[in-house]
Amino acid sequence: MTRYFLFIAITLITLVSCGQQTEKTKTIYNFKLSDKEWQEKLSPTQYRVLRKSGTEQAFTGKLWDNKEQGTYTCAGCNQELFLSDTKFKSGTGWPSFYNFIKKGIIVGTDNDLGYSRNEVHCANCGGHLGHVFEDGPKPTGLRYCINSASLEFKE
Ligand SMILES: [Zn+2]
Repeated sequence: MTRYFLFIAITLITLVSCGQQTEKTKTIYNFKLSDKEWQEKLSPTQYRVLRKSGTEQAFTGKLWDNKEQGTYTCAGCNQELFLSDTKFKSGTGWPSFYNFIKKGIIVGTDNDLGYSRNEVHCANCGGHLGHVFEDGPKPTGLRYCINSASLEFKE
């Protein structure tokens, strides 16, 4: 009988710890809002891009041709994402950067179903920003193609 209970206990512990492991691999973001709160906070375009992984029309955003010196932040949570020093003229009609502010973004989240590997997200709220391509200028050779709608600009 004691053995039987021991077996049950071990089985339960195994089940619980397996459950915790599954939780751990899922990306947890510091800044969290409900879907309703996001809709209230963001404009319809910002919501479609940031929360539904949409893409704004090229040459329509407010920041693709912005040449001012400053910092680009997440329109959803104010996380600092890109510096104007790393912005370059890509000719695509979307703000383009060859580098990002350390810990500002996450690229590709294989753990979250439905995201492609080159998708760029805000590291703080998980908002969709754009995509990264390997045809950028030196020194990184990368092109972070970002929607204006997902950014705010601070001089
Ligand atoms: Zn964010």
